[in-house]
Amino acid sequence: MNEALHNPLSILVIEDDPGDFGLVKDSLRQAGLVLGGNASGPVWAQTLRAGITAAQQSAPDVILLDLSLPDSSGIITLRTLRAALHNTPIVVLTGNDEKTMALAALESGAQDYLVKGMFDPDALGRAIRYAQVRSHIVQERDFTQAALNSLPGLFYLIDQQGRFLRWNQNFEKVSGYSAAEIATMSPLDFFDEADRSSIAAGIAQTYASGEALVEAEFVAKDHTHTPFLFSGKRFMFDQKPCLMGMAIDISQRRQAHARIEWLSHFDALTGLANLRLLDDRVQHAISMARRSQHTLTLMTLDLDHFKNINDSLGHPIGDALLVAVARRIQSVMREEDTVSRRGGDEFVLLLPTADVADAAHLAERLLAVIARSHQIDAHELLTTTSIGIAIYPTDGKDFETLSRNADVAMYRAKQDGRNCYRFFAAEMQTRSIRTLHIENALRRAQERGQLSLHYQPQLALSSGQVIGAEALLRWSHPELGPVSPADFIPIAEASGQIVQIGEWVLRTAVRQMKAWVDQGLASGAAPMVMAVNLSVVQFRHPRLVESILQILQEEQLAPEYLELELTEGVALNDPLGAIAVMNALRARGICMAIDDFGTGYSSLSYLKKFMVYKLKIDQSFVRDITEDPEDKAIVSAIIRMAGSLGLKTIAEGVETIGQLAFLRDSGCDEVQGYYYSKPLPAPAFEAFLRQARNRE
Ligand code: C2E
Ligand code: MG
Ligand code: MG
Repeated sequence: MNEALHNPLSILVIEDDPGDFGLVKDSLRQAGLVLGGNASGPVWAQTLRAGITAAQQSAPDVILLDLSLPDSSGIITLRTLRAALHNTPIVVLTGNDEKTMALAALESGAQDYLVKGMFDPDALGRAIRYAQVRSHIVQERDFTQAALNSLPGLFYLIDQQGRFLRWNQNFEKVSGYSAAEIATMSPLDFFDEADRSSIAAGIAQTYASGEALVEAEFVAKDHTHTPFLFSGKRFMFDQKPCLMGMAIDISQRRQAHARIEWLSHFDALTGLANLRLLDDRVQHAISMARRSQHTLTLMTLDLDHFKNINDSLGHPIGDALLVAVARRIQSVMREEDTVSRRGGDEFVLLLPTADVADAAHLAERLLAVIARSHQIDAHELLTTTSIGIAIYPTDGKDFETLSRNADVAMYRAKQDGRNCYRFFAAEMQTRSIRTLHIENALRRAQERGQLSLHYQPQLALSSGQVIGAEALLRWSHPELGPVSPADFIPIAEASGQIVQIGEWVLRTAVRQMKAWVDQGLASGAAPMVMAVNLSVVQFRHPRLVESILQILQEEQLAPEYLELELTEGVALNDPLGAIAVMNALRARGICMAIDDFGTGYSSLSYLKKFMVYKLKIDQSFVRDITEDPEDKAIVSAIIRMAGSLGLKTIAEGVETIGQLAFLRDSGCDEVQGYYYSKPLPAPAFEAFLRQARNRE
């Protein structure tokens, strides 16, 4: 800046009065100001127009301006010149009587003023130098504002009261607020409630330690949110500590970050989980399975002859097919499952709660959906897949072993002709095939009349009277032969068929009981009940109570002739819900017994609240009751406990006189078992009953 002052000066004087011009010229010479440009002294213009032209041509360092000119007078003269020249320093020459005009001139962009006839050469020289300095300051300020305006980010200066003192144009543009609005706002007004405390903390830290960085969402007037990184610095302004801040838009950086994060867990081509994410999920699923002792399934899936498609149609088509296959796989999976691509045409699937039957089911569906033709561009592509299945914990207890064994099974599927699935363990393969076979056959069993009920007598130990019949389901299939309920009931439960089958059982048993009641067979010394087994799945069905009542009503059997055998499992997940259902049944006059007691989860506190009147001691305790001291202890404990809770006991699986004797001595109320009779078809049961009644 000082440099500029010592350079030769070129001065333009705009003055219509030749006398005044002469005075100025002399003063300039006397002041020793070196005049550049025109050797004979300052450039002279006598009208404003001439002055502007001269200024534009000669670019003077300073202009001395008389406000009263032939073509313009007053403050407008200055404003016109200022507008035409922007930055050139201007010293206004005024008459003595124009003081107020002189002050107005300073406000309108003049750097100084001199009163004609009142200045000496020194004063003129000083005025010219100051004008230059001031002009530089103005230019500096303009430069600073222009620089701030050119910043891509936000700039702002805030005082300690939180008032905005300065900001750049971008701040107005991004925020959508006008300068007038910003001037009345506080910094916190630009943030959501959630971010305000961290912004306030950032401001406090800036004053305390000099600087701070905060990431937050900047909220514009139209409520759009943009993530910014705010950097504050403490800054003295007007001798007061202020906060000078800059902020940059980090949405792109965040997006890039999110993308990197995403890429590290997902496969870029298909959007499926990648191996890393799968690994995490498998670890988690294994620990869950270990804790709750259930199985989980890991499947490896490899497209058959995929290389041919890649080789003959090119990679883009191959890629598109992989994406299409990925979508098909996802379409048959459940929410909790994870589908991942291991690379190439290999997929790995995690089914966190699936057992053998579930796995076989899913594998069947996968084979079917993948085999449907895929339309890729103009090509109709056909592909099949080979699937290997490993089940935790039998086939491995960690991810590595499970996936290795699933691979072994998958290669076996390839060897066996592809387009099929194989379990790692051979017995699971057999089991799964049988499961699916049974499930399909069971679907038709009811309509084809393959189902029937057998009835097993239940007797009171004290009197030897028949006090009940347990209805037990029998299924005889033309090829499979007789299938044990222990085999097909769990399958019917898993597939949901048990609800329909259970209704059939209930109706058939109730109808049979009604017939016996009508024949006078049900009422000996003690009335007989029909005990029907109820699966947990049936028990949880929302229409259970309704459907039982409907059957009783339609078959016209009084509810006291019906007893339901529940297992302890009904209370497993939702004991309070179970208690509510039991209460509803009991209120309708239906009795309930707990079947297989001692094998499941028993909470004495719940047992008290259960509306049951009888416990059926599981046959596994009865079997060795004559030799095994532990079983003896358990059975007599159950009987004593039941007695103190006011519950009856019935022992099942009684086959020998020895077992019977022990049970009688222990105070058991009732028995059921081969010792008296196997489960019998209705006519045989009827004969048994008549004989028993005759004995009574
Ligand atoms: P459960 O309810 O505990 O039935 C008793 C089982 O023990 C029956 O087997 C019966 O035939 C058998 N059993 C009876 N006395 C003796 C004996 O002295 N010795 C031996 N070793 N066994 C004896 P089953 O008929 O094979 O039924 C097995 C299970 O299938 C039943 O156990 C029951 O849980 C279920 N089940 C049978 N029918 C139905 C039904 O209609 N619905 C439902 N949900 N489950 C049923
Ligand atoms: Mg039973
Ligand atoms: Mg039982």
